Amino acid sequence: MILLYWDKTTWYALGALSSSLQQYNLPYKIIRGDPIPQIQSLLDQGLHVIYGESARITTMDALKERLKQLKAHISSPRLMTVVGGPSASGAPEKILSLGADFVVIGEGEVTFPKLVQTWIKANFQKKYLNSLPGIALFDEAGECIQTPSRPRINLDEYYPYSDNEEFPLHPPIELMRGCAFRCRFCQVPYTYGNPRFRSIESITKIIEHYVHYFKPLKINVDIRFIAPNSLGYMEKKRGQPNYEALANLLRHLSQYEIRLFFGTFPSEIRPEYITEQTISLFDMITNRQISVGFQSGSDRVLKEMRRGHSVADGLQAYDLLVSQGFTPVFDFLLGVPSETTAEQWQTLTLIRDLGRKAQTRLHYFIPLPGTPWEASPSSPLSSEIQSEIGRLAKAKIVRGAFARQLQIALKGK
Ligand code: SF4
Repeated sequence: MILLYWDKTTWYALGALSSSLQQYNLPYKIIRGDPIPQIQSLLDQGLHVIYGESARITTMDALKERLKQLKAHISSPRLMTVVGGPSASGAPEKILSLGADFVVIGEGEVTFPKLVQTWIKANFQKKYLNSLPGIALFDEAGECIQTPSRPRINLDEYYPYSDNEEFPLHPPIELMRGCAFRCRFCQVPYTYGNPRFRSIESITKIIEHYVHYFKPLKINVDIRFIAPNSLGYMEKKRGQPNYEALANLLRHLSQYEIRLFFGTFPSEIRPEYITEQTISLFDMITNRQISVGFQSGSDRVLKEMRRGHSVADGLQAYDLLVSQGFTPVFDFLLGVPSETTAEQWQTLTLIRDLGRKAQTRLHYFIPLPGTPWEASPSSPLSSEIQSEIGRLAKAKIVRGAFARQLQIALKGK
């Protein structure tokens, strides 16, 4: 039996994973809370158990504790622990050291079911799994080995949701995976490479399922998308929105009786992709708030980040959105390596200035595994900077998980 651990920040991954397990006819359960009694109960019934989690930087402390407790309470060759997700892919050795048997590197849709199938075929001997592509494990000498990567999947062949009656999961629809940009703080391009897109036909099929599923349950069927750069959907050249494909997608979806939310996830739209032409497409969407990754008020810092856009691009996105009656929701990142106090003030001054008509989600830089800045410490914030952030929060100009991110970053030092 496969047990997948549900967490509020990682459950989107479980939609795709459980759908894939269904395709491979592998039985699974989604579990919450303490996994130990649930695992023990299955072991007591004589079953073999695969315990799987997806790891993000925000779940690392809890994952560490769960793996520690598992190790302390259960020692059975019939249990296999597998961890995937961006924080596992970027630092597999660390995850294995915490007690996981295997790490799935990158996409899990094929690798995870194959890992389970191979374990079963190998008569539940973990030592025979060391040639399976796309994983990391400790060999018999205790060395971390990473097997060759697996070809990237065609998104159209996999669904992001699960219609399992007992464990239904309907996350936002992944429009694309990977990114053509290479921002130094971001795990997306280093985990998933260049973008691949889900076709309109595949998106339509998924939406039809969501409509069918939610219509009897809710007054409105809300469709949300998730994408690293949603206005980059189907682009042929980096930085040049494919207007025809975007128009085609949104026009096509407008025929359904749904509320369509597009560009609502943090940093989902890059500022330079907001143009008069692309903004005209927003007549077909429901939301009036548009999330844009602005990231810094300093051109030097944007360059350091390798963002590939300028402060002027962000200001132009602001003007265009506001002039058309939209509220920009900007994401800014403070504390990146080499950022000076003067540059932090530039960002905060800009946020205050934009705060008349825009909202800001403020983030604090955390070095993420697998990124070019994974070993670069964050820049500290002076007490004056922290006070100004407090004032901006009080004035409801900034929101976001800044305090929590600051805590994680300080802990990592
Ligand atoms: S921050 Fe956005 S644009 Fe930059 S690499 Fe990540 S997903 Fe791509």
